[in-house]
Amino acid sequence: MILMATTAVMGCILLAGNAVLAESDTELIAQARAIHKRVLTIDTHVDIPFNFGSDAYDMMKPGPLGQQVHLPTMTEGGLDAVFLIVYVGQSTRTITGNTKALSDAFLKFSAIHKLTEESYPNEVELARTAEDVRRISASGRKAVIIGMENGFPMGKDLRLLDVFYDQGARYLGLLHNGHNELGDSAQPFEKEDTAEHGGLSSLGKEVVTRLNKLGIMIDVSHASKQTTLDILALSKAPVIASHSAIRGIGNHPRNLSDIELDAIKNTNGVVNLVAFDTYLRSPSAEKTEALDGLRKKMELDKPGAFQKLNPEQLSSYYESAAAIDAKWPKAGVADLVDHIDYAVRRIGIDHVGIASDFNGGGGITGWNNAGETLNVTLELVKRGYSEDEIAKIWGGNLLRVMEDVEAYAAQMKN
Ligand SMILES: [Zn+2]
Repeated sequence: MILMATTAVMGCILLAGNAVLAESDTELIAQARAIHKRVLTIDTHVDIPFNFGSDAYDMMKPGPLGQQVHLPTMTEGGLDAVFLIVYVGQSTRTITGNTKALSDAFLKFSAIHKLTEESYPNEVELARTAEDVRRISASGRKAVIIGMENGFPMGKDLRLLDVFYDQGARYLGLLHNGHNELGDSAQPFEKEDTAEHGGLSSLGKEVVTRLNKLGIMIDVSHASKQTTLDILALSKAPVIASHSAIRGIGNHPRNLSDIELDAIKNTNGVVNLVAFDTYLRSPSAEKTEALDGLRKKMELDKPGAFQKLNPEQLSSYYESAAAIDAKWPKAGVADLVDHIDYAVRRIGIDHVGIASDFNGGGGITGWNNAGETLNVTLELVKRGYSEDEIAKIWGGNLLRVMEDVEAYAAQMKN
């Protein structure tokens, strides 16, 4: 069994499908539990379900679609703060495509504001600064911070970035799957060339400068290697990867190479290692075939197809994917911490963080919903990380970057 936050810690516990902890290890578990309680834990990437903010979705209750983060599970798992994501998939690069994307982005901003301002103002608060995150967490409530995934909704209008900032966006990833006007993606669409701009476009460069001035963190997750290196060379403030993994362990196009890791460190930034099965560990040929088959059957191999699924289709997709995972189990917490270890060795303890990508394809054996968050701390304790180090990894580093980005913007205003 997997250790749950509510499980009585006795006897033999199987952690993340890898290591077996004997009864003598209960001390270790008690230590992890105490540290986990004291440190401020931030998950830097949680997608929001399609029905988020509607009457059909209640943040207090597990919903029918297997959503992985709720207020009760956050409390159970000792998760203090989450970046909720205004994600819009890449679609047709026309005025019509941009307009639809902008409308979708505003619906998500609105849903997050509804959650924090109307539905659960006593339990949750929107944080606009690093100081807000600390204050809200100290008050015993959950902090929500907004991240944006894909710069596509802004079209070519830089002024919309100011509007996103006012709406609460505190990081922006310029790309998702498929190239856009801002630069090249790590995963181009089938008909696209590997590189369209050769990295960051000229509009993308203007976006980086504006984000620095506004005080929005720049996120390189989903950007191509050259786009990432261009961003890192240009940005005047620290840069993050909000949900990425390590190329040196898993050869996936979404994963960061050593040269990118080093460049992120040079901006004094932070890489948040993500609990995403296929980035952490290459799946077997059989599993890949089964997953590809499912995507083909549900016609998900076209741009934006996933977003178009209705709740019934989505539910059916999650059910089929779960059956595939049951047959070929996902990576575990130990795999995630292998990526953390690699990053710490390469760029140091001050530049590493954690993300789940829950509700967006993330979730691994042992950390498959917010309620299981303690398992990550347990594995870190098991590997000898100190409380100070765990506090940095679980959010201290991210808040330092957020403060530096705020300070740069304030300096530009004066
Ligand atoms: Zn993503």
